[in-house]
Amino acid sequence: RAKESGRSGYQFYTEQMHIDAQQLVELEQDLRSALKNNEFKLVYQPQVELETMQITGVEALLRWHHPQKGLIPPDKFIPVAESSGLIVAIGAWVINQACGQLRYWHDLGFEQLSMAINLSARQFFQKDLFATIAQAIAAHGIEAGKVEFEITESMMMRNIEEIVDRLHHIKTLGVQLSIDDFGTGYSSLSYLKRFPLNKIKIDRSFVRGLPDDSDDGAIVEAIIAIAHSLGFTVIAEGVETAEQLSLLATKRCGEFQGYYFSKPCSVQALSALLLEHLPKEKKVCSLSSR
Ligand code: C2E
Ligand code: MG
Ligand code: MG
Ligand code: MG
Repeated sequence: RAKESGRSGYQFYTEQMHIDAQQLVELEQDLRSALKNNEFKLVYQPQVELETMQITGVEALLRWHHPQKGLIPPDKFIPVAESSGLIVAIGAWVINQACGQLRYWHDLGFEQLSMAINLSARQFFQKDLFATIAQAIAAHGIEAGKVEFEITESMMMRNIEEIVDRLHHIKTLGVQLSIDDFGTGYSSLSYLKRFPLNKIKIDRSFVRGLPDDSDDGAIVEAIIAIAHSLGFTVIAEGVETAEQLSLLATKRCGEFQGYYFSKPCSVQALSALLLEHLPKEKKVCSLSSR
């Protein structure tokens, strides 16, 4: 809670809170130099479609290798990047890096692969986002329709008119839009209908209890039904077991992402996975084109 209440409140809290505040200040200082010191890296987690059980997309996930503290997970530093405004520059780096990587995989012969990129609230409401995306797509010469931006439900709680306008504006670039961690926010279904979305990502907290928890089963089924009736595709996050996969498949969930298939991987590991997954003729083609 303390993290959300902002910096001004810290001096009034307990010693423990003060230490936390000190750590936050340090983290923010270190984040300031992380970009120019090349401490960020993207890893990529496959997304597999039901119809073919092939990898059709990847999600880019940010990693920060701190020179002293080692790997810091995004859940720890993204809120700091967000509150300090650094997320705008970091996010632009992510967009550019992910688009460059997609170009590389398209050039290797995986032309159908899509790239999902997470956006933070601050980034979404920032003026330059449209230009940043347009430039990255143009600079790397990729097909815009293969790039997908993930926004979370909790970002959608503000002025609906403004959000709808921004989403439509971004959509004019030809990119795809999805709603991440779906089910954990409070979005009204009537709003959902007005958002020009392509995909709903079922939050992994609902997948975790499958197949035994019948409440989770009912929620997942309801989300899939809503998604389909609004014309969105649906992907389940956090698929870890064969049992979860088979239940989701029965309910016609169109795509899956999770440790059952693969953890987020390096470029090299993901390239190897893609080669393994691709039909044979394509493999030959992609290898000979190198
Ligand atoms: P997310 O966008 O919902 O990403 C999915 C998270 O679930 C990732 O955590 C992924 O590693 C993890 N995950 C995937 N499959 C499984 C599974 O089967 N089981 C479990 N237990 N976990 C699984 P990660 O990489 O730590 O990222 C956490 C969050 O940080 C992301 O959640 C996203 O909200 C944020 N994030 C990551 N990269 C970026 C970025 O470039 N920009 C922004 N704004 N946020 C990012
Ligand atoms: Mg896809
Ligand atoms: Mg995501
Ligand atoms: Mg998620």
